[in-house]
Amino acid sequence: MSASIIDGKAVAARMRRRVAAEVETLPARPGLATVLVGDDPASATYVRMKREDCAEVGIESFHHAPGADVSQDELAGLIGALNADERVHGILLQLPLPGHLDQDPLISAIDASKDVDGLTPSNAGLLFQGREGLVPCTPAGVMELLADAGAELEGARAVVLGRSILVGKPLAQLLLAANATVTHCHSRTRDLPAVCRQADVLVAAAGSPHLVTADMVREGAVVIDVGTNRGEDGLVGDVDFEAVKEIAGAITPVPGGVGPMTRAMLLSNTVLAARRQLEAHPRAAGRR
Ligand code: NAP
Repeated sequence: MSASIIDGKAVAARMRRRVAAEVETLPARPGLATVLVGDDPASATYVRMKREDCAEVGIESFHHAPGADVSQDELAGLIGALNADERVHGILLQLPLPGHLDQDPLISAIDASKDVDGLTPSNAGLLFQGREGLVPCTPAGVMELLADAGAELEGARAVVLGRSILVGKPLAQLLLAANATVTHCHSRTRDLPAVCRQADVLVAAAGSPHLVTADMVREGAVVIDVGTNRGEDGLVGDVDFEAVKEIAGAITPVPGGVGPMTRAMLLSNTVLAARRQLEAHPRAAGRR
């Protein structure tokens, strides 16, 4: 029997409608600052789409595009200014940065309350401790898709492929918090197919085209494909979708699965960050 297809576009559209309705309830208009360094065309496209999303739901966006030769100090200065700007509730530093810049201290310089990508050590630590912070957008989106698909996580065996700080590690924490029994795989994992076959929920975030083949999937498993790999065949995921959909119970496509959710969660995080800041500093409210 063929798997049900988890429609990320539809779930993301519902999320955007929820966010737009929440924006209306805030005492001030939420603001997202986007920082795009240099002229990488893919990054420019991502940032443009994020700004269009903001406009759709009523979030004000403040765009900054320093040249590729910007210095570490100049960029740190910009982040400091955005931290201090009360119209800005979220700061998105588009990654990757040009090679001469040291990414980690710049990410750490973002005020944790405005860190809508959830990448600062502060937010990563809060997630690790099961405390309230801001969660990275892609793993948060995966959890929304699992909820929408009705995936039973309590006591389920979840296997996460990939251990980046952007996707794999935070996702494993979220699954653990949802009471799944989590196995974390990476490039040194022995007998990956056997580990994957254990999974009730299998999430692939390895960046390796068609790494997950049908023989690695247990019948009826929920399969989430985070991978976005651009090649001669266009955009493909980490999962061999055509073969795996004949085995899985539910599966996300690429494109149209996790990608739209990542964008929607950025909006959701921005509104959450705005609400918290406006409640903590009511003086900044009253401006729409
Ligand atoms: P990353 O930083 O390159 O991490 C990849 C992880 O996968 C690493 O932990 C690596 O293991 C592991 N891995 C690589 N090849 C493997 C293999 N053959 N078997 C087992 N594990 C393997 O990548 P990322 O930033 O997490 O992104 C992962 C994928 O998701 C990429 O395709 C990226 O484009 C995509 N992505 C999509 C979205 C979206 O919105 N759809 C968002 C973010 C990322 P080691 O640690 O041992 O090297």
